[in-house]
Amino acid sequence: MIKNKQETNEETIYDKLMPAGQYISNENPAQPSNSQDIKLVNVMEDLVLSRLDSTLERFNCCKCSKCKKDIAAIALNRLAPRYTIMKENNTEKRKTAEDEYGANVISAIIQAILIVKESPRH
Ligand SMILES: [Zn+2]
Repeated sequence: MIKNKQETNEETIYDKLMPAGQYISNENPAQPSNSQDIKLVNVMEDLVLSRLDSTLERFNCCKCSKCKKDIAAIALNRLAPRYTIMKENNTEKRKTAEDEYGANVISAIIQAILIVKESPRH
């Protein structure tokens, strides 16, 4: 009895921890999957890095690689990580992540830019 209850709890916790799990079950079963191509990806990191340059363009902030990495680190520390597994070139999943988290990512990048702009570390 106790064991069953624990299993149920673990499943509930897993669902809470891994909302991205829905991506996994959406995999098209007709497509044979090649496990060699599957990567563990923090989609937040992907999004921050892909939006960093275009967001920086809008600010009069130092754009050296040190400041850019600083901004990325600060932004990522402000965002909850969203890990998922996907094939390297799965643009559909990246698009879904962008639709879902894009606004949060931009907001975190802007806050990070303001911090680094205020006191660059060089
Ligand atoms: Zn700099």
